[in-house]
Amino acid sequence: DLKMGFVGLPNVGKSTLTNILAGACHAEAANYPFCTIDPNMVQAIVPDQKFNYLVKTYKPQSVVPAVLKIVDIAGLIRGASEGAGLGNAFLSHIAAVDGIYHLVRAFDSDEVIHVDDSVDPIRDLETIQSELCLKDKESLTKVLENEKNKIRKEKGIARSAEPPLGEVFKSAYDKCLALIESNTPVQTCEDFTMGEVEAIRDFGLITTKPQIYVINMSKNNFLRKGNKWLPKIQTWVNEHGGGQIIPMSCEFEQELMDLQDDKDAQQAFIDKCEEEVKAMGLSGPGFAVKSVVPRLIRAGRQSLCLQSFYTAGPMEVRAWTIMKGSLAPQAAGVIHTDFERGFIKAEVANFDDFKALHNGEASMAKVKDAGKYRQEGKRTSCKKVILLFLCIIL
Ligand code: GDP
Repeated sequence: DLKMGFVGLPNVGKSTLTNILAGACHAEAANYPFCTIDPNMVQAIVPDQKFNYLVKTYKPQSVVPAVLKIVDIAGLIRGASEGAGLGNAFLSHIAAVDGIYHLVRAFDSDEVIHVDDSVDPIRDLETIQSELCLKDKESLTKVLENEKNKIRKEKGIARSAEPPLGEVFKSAYDKCLALIESNTPVQTCEDFTMGEVEAIRDFGLITTKPQIYVINMSKNNFLRKGNKWLPKIQTWVNEHGGGQIIPMSCEFEQELMDLQDDKDAQQAFIDKCEEEVKAMGLSGPGFAVKSVVPRLIRAGRQSLCLQSFYTAGPMEVRAWTIMKGSLAPQAAGVIHTDFERGFIKAEVANFDDFKALHNGEASMAKVKDAGKYRQEGKRTSCKKVILLFLCIIL
């Protein structure tokens, strides 16, 4: 069960954003009873046009969309890696998530205090990144010690003597250390051999987790798609291994969400924002006023290498989550573990074929007639088939 976590200094907007996501979830909670809300964790519904299309077509009794779990990890401050603030407790919370939204404050406000007195996203990026890297450096020291002890034991070498390290371990360790010492997350370096990747997996580093940089700016900056810090942030991210940057505004999203029960008022708010954009002399599709929340959720899910396949019928339309590159039996195993063990074949159709062929019917008949309903065996990769209808034959 993979999760994303919000990480950032205090007062950058983490809990505001968590609440916004929970609010989006609340709005749908009537439809999705499983959508429990915890102050520190939201299960954000993954926006998915294919799923919505299936729901519209099948009109089932129940619907189960894919969700992305996101945890608000509060408490990171300068010195956390040495135990300041929540210190190690905080860092173990990061260790428990699989991907990181690194939230950075780029909005000015006299009312919201900044822990370091002034707004400077580059300094903040440095602070957070160096805390994560310092923690990883500490982990690497332990990894090295453990490896040495293991080899000493295996080879009967004395405690005081330096044991010979394996070649792959040594190169993986050296590369990680060099990255971490230059404040660069290990994740972003693609210069690893397969063997090194295997070794690094056992190192338990925080900075191997995918990171998405989320820039929280004022509503006005968000509407005009500009903020004086953005180019500098882009440069910093490029210099620290690259990564996706998502500019957004909690202020804008909050106002939009506060109006979600009144669609007319919400539209009026968007119209007003569009007027403001026009008044700034800006136009074109790049300046369309819309929420960034769907993009945020999709990006998190992609960074975790997750994708959906669907089952659809009159009782239920459901999106199931699998890792990219999963094989058909693993996909079946998500539905029920017995299905993986006893897997013989799956019957599947491609979503686009279904959409093109079903002719308004909530059935596979037309897809079958066209010869597009296939049986897939044990080695079929789910990348190849966006499984629509998975009927497991035991
Ligand atoms: P956290 O400590 O990172 O969880 O930060 P919070 O979400 O609690 O936000 C701290 C304060 O900043 C709150 O008073 C928010 O209302 C305010 N805040 C968050 N995002 C924005 C924003 O985009 N613009 C402005 N002006 N205030 C914001």
